Amino acid sequence: MSTCRWCTSFGDDVAKLLQRYCAGSWLAEDEEKALNDDLDKCLECVVVYHRAKEELPGLHRRLWELETSRLLDLFSHAAKDAEPAKDLSYIEEDGREIGVSHISPAVYEDRLGVPLSEVLKYPYLLASPELSEMCVEAICKMEEYNSFRVCCKDPGIYLLLVHPNETVRRWAIGAARSLGKVDRDDFYDLQDIFSCMFYIVELRIPQNFPDMDTSYDPTTKMTLLQPHLYDSKNSKNYWLGICMLLTQLDAQAMDSLFLGPDKQANILLCILNALKDEEPSNEMDPFWPVLQCFMVILDCLGSRFWGQIEPSQAFQAISQSPSYSAELESVRQQTMISRIKTETTYDDDMVTCSQMVYDSNTKVSKVMTPICCICVLLVVPKLDLLD
Ligand SMILES: [Zn+2]
Repeated sequence: MSTCRWCTSFGDDVAKLLQRYCAGSWLAEDEEKALNDDLDKCLECVVVYHRAKEELPGLHRRLWELETSRLLDLFSHAAKDAEPAKDLSYIEEDGREIGVSHISPAVYEDRLGVPLSEVLKYPYLLASPELSEMCVEAICKMEEYNSFRVCCKDPGIYLLLVHPNETVRRWAIGAARSLGKVDRDDFYDLQDIFSCMFYIVELRIPQNFPDMDTSYDPTTKMTLLQPHLYDSKNSKNYWLGICMLLTQLDAQAMDSLFLGPDKQANILLCILNALKDEEPSNEMDPFWPVLQCFMVILDCLGSRFWGQIEPSQAFQAISQSPSYSAELESVRQQTMISRIKTETTYDDDMVTCSQMVYDSNTKVSKVMTPICCICVLLVVPKLDLLD
């Protein structure tokens, strides 16, 4: 059995190996293939490679080309092999002919497990639209088999909470929940990707950036989500993703996010502004997920929340929102009926993404939202007096 070249090298040797790999022309053909094979199959090699890369910023542009072409090659080959083969099929009892692919779900996952983990660990790779599309295809396929499990809080998982593809969002919500709360140490590792996600909120989830170049520059840190990584036309889904993210933070991580030295105080103002936005009450109305974000933060930070936000402002933003008034009116009318309607009708077997997010924070469920609102409205003036 051959030995990995990246993860068995130490110190300067890795940097030299990386320089030779980047230059390409110095390598024998089989050496280049062996180095790529290691990156395709061994996650430790991937980690050693990316750690060495951090120290060599001059190589980033060329390495970005090598990384994206290596990964695209892998994903597209696996996708091709997973397609139903022309010469392989079986007949179902009802007479239908079902195509069989050349590789089993287990082989497919085995081939793409390390590459997908690399993309989730280093999510700037998703800035490539082609690679992002291939990853989406792979995650959707693995969701069919229910086979792709994660064991680390990789930043890409949280980034995919706002992805336009519902299956991907559903997978990301499940993965984030399975990994448990993000504590303060995790938070520092994930901070950069959270900032990218919050930056879109600060920009009010724009549908386009007329004055900005959104293409990714591989020589700098990723600071902005590329337009293909979120659905700008559906701010409700974006806020649902943000809500899920906030729900996963433990008290210390939330503290670092909103009260720490690099605090994202602007997000609280964005929440207030989004609550006030005059959106028509329709399926894409972001009011409830935004309010849910408000409640999750309030629940976690307690009275320190009011040091960041003026209680009367919050009171007005919620109570004057058309969505809130409409819901209150609807609750009033339904007091005659025993059952409070839920957000949308859905199959018993099909749990929507929003239900998954709300279920993550059982203290504040959608069905309870009007009542919670009333609680907030009762609590806000009291806290105002206390402060
Ligand atoms: Zn290795």
